[in-house]
Amino acid sequence: RVNIFWFRRDLRLHDNAALYYSLKEGTPVLPIFIFDKYILDKLEDKADRRVAFIHSALEELQQQLSSLGSSLLVLYGFPKDVFNQLISTYTIEKVYTNHDYEPYAGERDGEIDNLLQSNSIPLLTSKDQVIFEKGEILKDDGSPYTVFTPYSRKWKAALNNFFLSSYPNEKYFQNFYKTEPHAVPKLETFGFKKLTHPFPSKSLVEEILKKYSDTRDFPGVENGTSRLGVHLRFGTVSIRELAKTAISLNDTYLNELIWREFYQMILWHFPEVGQGRAFKEEYDKIEWRNNEAEFEKWCKGMTGYPIVDAGIRELNATGFMHNRVRMVVASFLTKHLLIDWRWGEAYFAAKLLDYELASNNGGWQWAAGSGCDAAPFFRIFNPHLQTIKFDKGLDYIKKWIPELNEFTYPQPIVDHEFARKRALEVYGKALKK
Ligand code: FAD
Repeated sequence: RVNIFWFRRDLRLHDNAALYYSLKEGTPVLPIFIFDKYILDKLEDKADRRVAFIHSALEELQQQLSSLGSSLLVLYGFPKDVFNQLISTYTIEKVYTNHDYEPYAGERDGEIDNLLQSNSIPLLTSKDQVIFEKGEILKDDGSPYTVFTPYSRKWKAALNNFFLSSYPNEKYFQNFYKTEPHAVPKLETFGFKKLTHPFPSKSLVEEILKKYSDTRDFPGVENGTSRLGVHLRFGTVSIRELAKTAISLNDTYLNELIWREFYQMILWHFPEVGQGRAFKEEYDKIEWRNNEAEFEKWCKGMTGYPIVDAGIRELNATGFMHNRVRMVVASFLTKHLLIDWRWGEAYFAAKLLDYELASNNGGWQWAAGSGCDAAPFFRIFNPHLQTIKFDKGLDYIKKWIPELNEFTYPQPIVDHEFARKRALEVYGKALKK
């Protein structure tokens, strides 16, 4: 007789909502994680950074669980097959898990729920990865917000200690299912590779937050932003704890956490944006140039615009790109090159360690102008002015383009003024129709 706790994007034992409810019940809790074959099969790069991050987080969980006399069961396959097998192996009373708001996750969880129901096993789910989810923050008329500022105002007004208090999971750690520890299967078992690259640390957060308002916009400043994106994505930090830290140290940082929830809320209410549709329909009339040779140059960091190239090279080398540079690079692709934002979105999705469907889609549609609360279409970043404003000493650019002063550095792929006018024309034409 066991209760199953299914880890997904909440890879931690402390302050974990559904894990808390499962442990509190008293029936032994068997913790599981499934490497989903459906997701893994779609990843072309077998040195995928996210898979490697998950794997290292699972190893850490395994250590903690083994010191509690328990073990994490790491499985591989299509989730439905895996659950069929679990049902035939264990006497399962209930399955607990935390909400996941992405369209694929919704389908998967619906399927698992049906399977469990047909075996009379309830699937119990909780909110864990956000402070406010789904329809918890709505306009007075009950409709979802599509503009950030009023959303964030309502978010802050609704906040109280109830939403921030941590779940005291430690109180019930004795209720984990007792078993010999099993090793986490090697990544090679699933055809993936381990990475030697270190993942962002969580230990500097307080220090970073104290100066964040002054440093966050300057990509050349070391530790200018928290780099917690990947930890938030996979739940290796608790959003409640992080929001409490932000409230005590830095309101600007809290705002960024609210942007994250804003985009998750948008994806929940408008799932079609995550399936290739522009939030503002008329933007789907834009006649993108989609020049493949130019896209290739953009992907390689060879556009001849140093700030753009530095950003892409940072991404290719590390899986990270600074937010300011993400905006410049995305604006450049969509406006200067008139390449469909979906191409850039897919490229980021393949490369970013902190890849999050909701935020990535939100960021790309913001840059292209097609999103909710997006940059107006006539706002076209000037890469040169952005450099003067945010990387005046060229610290960032030189880090990623050491050959900058050499004659080998490429000429600009397109003239800024020419590209600006062309973008205004093409956008203007589509939006007037
Ligand atoms: P910090 O500045 O330290 O911010 C802390 C946290 O707040 C971030 O980790 C993130 O969870 C959240 N956050 C900050 N800014 C934003 C934002 N604009 N929108 C949503 N959440 C935000 N963020 C992702 O997490 N995943 C993505 O795939 C992603 N793709 C993006 C694509 C484009 C084109 C753009 C313009 C932005 C994208 N962002 C994405 C948002 C932002 O750039 C990153 O969250 C941020 O750079 C991550 O670095 P950090 O953890 O040091 O952020």
